[in-house]
Amino acid sequence: MSENPYLAHLKPSKGKSDKAGFHGLIPRKTTAAQAEALENGTHNPFTDRAYSAKYQKILVGRRKLPVHAKRDEFLELVHNNQFVVLVGETGSGKTTQIPQFLAYDELPHLKGKQIACTQPRRVAAMSVAQRVADEMDVQLGQEVGYNIRFEDNTSPKTFLKYMTDGMLLREAMSDPKLSRYSAVVLDEAHERTLSTDILMGLLKEICKTRKDLQVVVMSATLDAGKFQKYFNDAPLLTVPGRTFPVEIFYTPEPERDYLEAAIRTTLQIHASEPEGDILVFLTGEEEIENAVRKITAEGDELIRSQNAGPLKVVPLYSTLPPSAQQRIFDSPPPPRQPGGTPGRKVVVSTNIAETSLTIDGIVYVIDPGFAKQKVYNPRIRVESLLVSPISKASAQQRAGRAGRTRPGKAFRLYTENAFNKELIEQTYPEILRSNLGSVVLQLKKLGIDDLVHFDFMDPPAPETLMRALELLNYLGALDDDGELTPTGELMSTFPLDPQLSKMLIDSPKYRCSNEILSIAALLSVPQIFLRPNEARKAADEAKANFAHADGDHLTLLNAYHAYKTNNEDPKWCYDNFLNQRSLKSADNVRQQLRRAMENHDLDLVSTPFEDRSYYNNIRKAIASGYFMQVAHLERTGHYLTVKDNQVVQLHPSSCLDHKPEWALYNEFVLTTRNYIRTCIEIKPDWLLDVAPQYYDLSNFPNCEGKRVLEKIISRRSRADEDERKHKKRRT
Ligand code: ADP
Ligand code: MG
Repeated sequence: MSENPYLAHLKPSKGKSDKAGFHGLIPRKTTAAQAEALENGTHNPFTDRAYSAKYQKILVGRRKLPVHAKRDEFLELVHNNQFVVLVGETGSGKTTQIPQFLAYDELPHLKGKQIACTQPRRVAAMSVAQRVADEMDVQLGQEVGYNIRFEDNTSPKTFLKYMTDGMLLREAMSDPKLSRYSAVVLDEAHERTLSTDILMGLLKEICKTRKDLQVVVMSATLDAGKFQKYFNDAPLLTVPGRTFPVEIFYTPEPERDYLEAAIRTTLQIHASEPEGDILVFLTGEEEIENAVRKITAEGDELIRSQNAGPLKVVPLYSTLPPSAQQRIFDSPPPPRQPGGTPGRKVVVSTNIAETSLTIDGIVYVIDPGFAKQKVYNPRIRVESLLVSPISKASAQQRAGRAGRTRPGKAFRLYTENAFNKELIEQTYPEILRSNLGSVVLQLKKLGIDDLVHFDFMDPPAPETLMRALELLNYLGALDDDGELTPTGELMSTFPLDPQLSKMLIDSPKYRCSNEILSIAALLSVPQIFLRPNEARKAADEAKANFAHADGDHLTLLNAYHAYKTNNEDPKWCYDNFLNQRSLKSADNVRQQLRRAMENHDLDLVSTPFEDRSYYNNIRKAIASGYFMQVAHLERTGHYLTVKDNQVVQLHPSSCLDHKPEWALYNEFVLTTRNYIRTCIEIKPDWLLDVAPQYYDLSNFPNCEGKRVLEKIISRRSRADEDERKHKKRRT
């Protein structure tokens, strides 16, 4: 053990065996005072270096956070309980401090263990890890790191890891006891994401045999009783927030256009309300960028005409690059001249700002009452992101963001009656509104066969589970008894949706794994084609240069190849309306997927480009993963999805310049109309070849597509018959 004098109190006390300590190696008897002595010292126990001045400065602020006052109580609870539930107001210091409390308590680096803190959102994991690295005076990616899909910013030294809940679940597949962790903190548990729900069940199971594993479940708003009961009557620690009253305003009439109303309200506040920053909740990137532009432009007008203070408008959404995200923590702009009207910061954000990230200084909140949410309809097997009304709990949480620094105001852009009568109490857990294909594959891989009796906090609908099993069976991942096949085993190792991993695994068969790797990567990153409002026509023309007549997957591939040919030149990307960051990240994803392919001895091959089957092979490989996402063009001129008979249209963004009879799609988009997005033309023969079980016409609903397939089948059997006769004659 280290001879560091600051650690003396952590050595095993005499006469007590290691077993006596709850965590084995080092009996954890630290008190807040002892841990604070370590923090106050001159010497960082995690790096053996002297603390910097920046560290000391941040420490002063950390001591003022509400969780700090509860440190002793928290340590007492974790020393005596395997599960602890913690509820504390957003901004009270849960995410940044609690994992540190655990770290100073058990010094996991001395025993080769790690502490994991899960986040539902990638942005939160990255941003909080950076903050905590600063707070602990270490370099991000060294002692403190983060791990999100396709981005592992950790090192062998890492002992505190912020990660998405999905990544921890993934780790469990190769390390079913989560043996590298001494503690797992499940943060934002109220969000009830699919992965958090599964992790909760898993951790309950793991903890039965791993008594040395500490679990802390945290949230800002939680039905604490339900969580305590689920975790074997775990104790609850509540951290009272330091919140100020928030006055709530409703609109007298429903708003027709919430975006327009949100922009108008922002400008009204800026023109007439005293100092204080504004937080506006919107639903997604495009809408947010749009609002940022309009507020900035109209704000300039206000500044000119009414001598209002300067405005700094910053967006926040998950695909924003980290440096741009950091701007939400900037101070508001200074007055234009000394003594002039103070400036104001406006943050326009998705749900991220609801609980995941705390922005200090917010006094006004604008809540249009919507968020993008996943919905799943197992009957027609469609999962889609849909802008839908939020819950009452969300609305309360949003309003609370206004009372962090002083009394605030929340402007709800809906009527009080709508709040009372139309909003549901709590958002439904994601497990009740998702396609479970991926999760069921992961659970099978984890050896959990009896899905019906898995200890779900809220069990998914049986029909949804059935759909997942059916999907995996058609993909060849599960056999008819529901057992994982070697293909399924292989599929589960890729951090991708089952269809995508099936397409990758099959691609060597079609001699196009190099190209399919690129396509899989391009489908896993934010859209590469940019289409700014002010330059739509130019953007469309640029995209047309990459267009492939057979469809969008191939268009993506063309653009990627051109990007590589042009040496990944940022200027070239800019000139061609391509999102360079997306392409760069696709490149990175591709490398990781390629390594995974190599590790599993999957051949990396291409059909020669001159060969006429080059593009057909690629399309066949795509079909071998996505044969369940196909639509047939009916004589009436609209598409019907195969087997589910849903009326759909090609998405206007598609580069297909004609309506192919058979279209394979990557995504079903529900809006006012049903669209299929990212489409390629395919041949019906391929469907019969890649998925004969799925295209078994004896259990096929009636539609024109079925009749076409029937004709192909009878033509094929006639041909077979002829061949047999022919052979007979020859012998
Ligand atoms: P909680 O998880 O309880 O909502 P956090 O631990 O995320 O609270 O944040 C506690 C406080 O730490 C915030 O109120 C804010 O003052 C500060 N903080 C967090 N992240 C940052 C950051 N990136 N930059 C500056 N301050 C931060
Ligand atoms: Mg938090």
